[in-house]
Amino acid sequence: MMQFSPFAGGLAESQTLAITATAKRMKAQGIDVAPFAAGEPDFDTPEFVKAAGLQAIRDGRTKYGPAAGLADLRGAVAEKMAATGYTGLTADRTIICAGAKPVLFFALAVLLEPGDEVLVPTPCWLSYPKMVQAAAGTCVWVETRPDQGYVIDPDALRAAITPRTKALILNSPGNPTGAVQPDDVQNAIGKIAAEHGIAVISDEIYEHMTYAPARFRSFADLAPDAHDLTLIVNGVSKAYAMTGWRIGWGGGPKDWIQRMIRLQSHAMSGPPDINQLAALAAVQGPTDQLEAMCSRFLERRTVICDALNAIPDVRCPTPDGAFYVFPDMSAYLQASFEGEPIGDATKLAGLLLEHAHAAVVPGDVFEAPYAIRFSYACSRDDITKGIARVAAFLGSLKRP
Ligand code: PMP
Ligand code: GLU
Repeated sequence: MMQFSPFAGGLAESQTLAITATAKRMKAQGIDVAPFAAGEPDFDTPEFVKAAGLQAIRDGRTKYGPAAGLADLRGAVAEKMAATGYTGLTADRTIICAGAKPVLFFALAVLLEPGDEVLVPTPCWLSYPKMVQAAAGTCVWVETRPDQGYVIDPDALRAAITPRTKALILNSPGNPTGAVQPDDVQNAIGKIAAEHGIAVISDEIYEHMTYAPARFRSFADLAPDAHDLTLIVNGVSKAYAMTGWRIGWGGGPKDWIQRMIRLQSHAMSGPPDINQLAALAAVQGPTDQLEAMCSRFLERRTVICDALNAIPDVRCPTPDGAFYVFPDMSAYLQASFEGEPIGDATKLAGLLLEHAHAAVVPGDVFEAPYAIRFSYACSRDDITKGIARVAAFLGSLKRP
């Protein structure tokens, strides 16, 4: 029998991708599934971005490119990061990868030694712990609570530090909660990181999705003390509805980035020029479609929060950013269905898919087993009809 590595070889499949794929399959079979699982905008990539991709194909940009990514895109990304507060960030301190995912993956892979600890505020995006595991590191959870708006407590973070603490992953606006970490909290985190020499990976992929009065500020802007230790991660997937184009980037200390580039040169080479040139058009182009998309998300957030909060004993905080809501469903985990106790969010999510035709992601995968994630990156009609089915199904359960 083959013996696989318990690190990269021991990973479970990404449930967000798996549930989204199941929902798409059901839809193709003609079932009206409410697509609340997908972590991707339902809008189309802007036409001017597609045109740039097509032009790149016509121009024959079909060869290997530089392992670090195209110089023009690196320059544009550096300029953007410098403008949002990462003073002095230059193009040679950036890397372009096939999505934000490999940026995070490579960042952890070159940083961690076996047994190193990474502080991860929970609820957290499901791939962080898997990437830490693949890099032979260990996650140390720092819990945040729905009744505190999922805001990180810097004292709890400090208390979780040990001599093995190597890094911290920050994600604001956050997936799955939509929480935007307040300026003073991010500033305090920067001070703690600088004091203890802890690297900070700030995943800012939902930068453009905040809803007034909340607003986005980069960790680099709020925590200048930690610049030598900060890696900012971002990309075009969410803001420009480009999930399938697979372009993301990182900017940070030169020695960290150089190591990531060397790893990328062996693991996958630079991402396709065609996709990078489309991404360059996106970041340099007009922002009207982005703004229109955000105002649609804002309307839908109200619709979904109101509908969920109208269900007895469901508590759905209104998030400040991203396009997810993360209601507390604990009241229904104690219920039973056909004589069987439900017990956990994974079981409840499976029942909702089967009986309410609502594709959702259970909180277990985000280290929050009391909740369920609903993405509202879908039409108002899908939201209204889908949540009505969820409400009817929950109402039919036998509760203690
Ligand atoms: N970070 C977070 C918090 C995400 O939700 C996602 C979702 N895709 C990613 C990173 C990965 O982005 P990409 O699709 O660009 O790899
Ligand atoms: N990040 C999105 C999500 O959380 C997309 C799927 C994935 O890459 O995990 O659903």
